[in-house]
Amino acid sequence: MNDSRLTGVVFNIVHSSFVDGYGIRTTVFLKGCPLRCLWCCNPEGQKFEPELKFVAPDCSSCGKCVEICPVGALAINPDPEQKLFIDREKCTMCGKCADACAVNAFGIIGKRMTVDEVMKIVCKDEYYYRKSGGGLTIGGGEATAQPDFTLALVRACKENYIHVAIDTCGFTTTENGRKALEEADLLLYDVKGIDPAEHRRNTGVSNEIILDNLKRLDSMGKPIIIRYPFIPGYNDSQETIKAIAALLEKLKSVQRVDIIGYHEYSRTRYKELGMPYPLEHIKSTPTNERLESVKTIFEQHGLKTQLGG
Ligand code: SF4
Ligand code: SF4
Repeated sequence: MNDSRLTGVVFNIVHSSFVDGYGIRTTVFLKGCPLRCLWCCNPEGQKFEPELKFVAPDCSSCGKCVEICPVGALAINPDPEQKLFIDREKCTMCGKCADACAVNAFGIIGKRMTVDEVMKIVCKDEYYYRKSGGGLTIGGGEATAQPDFTLALVRACKENYIHVAIDTCGFTTTENGRKALEEADLLLYDVKGIDPAEHRRNTGVSNEIILDNLKRLDSMGKPIIIRYPFIPGYNDSQETIKAIAALLEKLKSVQRVDIIGYHEYSRTRYKELGMPYPLEHIKSTPTNERLESVKTIFEQHGLKTQLGG
């Protein structure tokens, strides 16, 4: 099949992003990820298939969706906060409830799109990429978990002279996933920990593949921005921070380290997808002083470092 007609499942396209690489960028978010980080801030990117989103505060309890659902997956919930019972096992993702709802309380997250369709949207912002040194960033979920689609997007960018970055967790095991990382112009690469057992507890997988891929891509001279999510009680020990800094210090292609402090911006999105929020017990986000002290450790290892990214 012609690569331009390859399809992937996309759950969001954000224009004018300043945080996903250099310059002004369009970020395409793909569904599906092999990790389950406890602090995941894109829960809608975890599953590969489209999902039903329900925004309870918008619902007026009119009952139209209950009447129209062909499989009886919906029922009015007397709890004024929950508004509806949703049987997600029964739901076939037909979208009829979303069409029937006058207040848009439902949405289907994730849409199958061709490379051509995505590139048409990406190319609309070409003027801003050229003015700012920006381009496309492919994120997720995990971009390389849809390896053929991501590789085709990377190559389509090359054909159109558009700078392309991949935001990756590095857990890439397929040949085309590896090629996509190798052919991209820039990698935003997560390093979430050093100890394999701790990494498995926090993300569901060991970090051996991730660190091997990082070292291989670094030795190829691939420009890399490291992203370290700083999560209190999970990967924030001095030992872990110093070990990450010592590892990165030895690499030659790391341009910058971004420290991403724990935040709760995605909490409501878990609710909308019917998922439990795994870090419910964390009651506060790290102070700026704490994050500055972590930044200092990376800087002491000769690494250009910033808070956020
Ligand atoms: S998407 Fe279809 S099957 Fe699922 S709850 Fe809505 S109407 Fe029912
Ligand atoms: S149609 Fe919309 S407003 Fe009415 S009960 Fe269903 S979700 Fe709520």
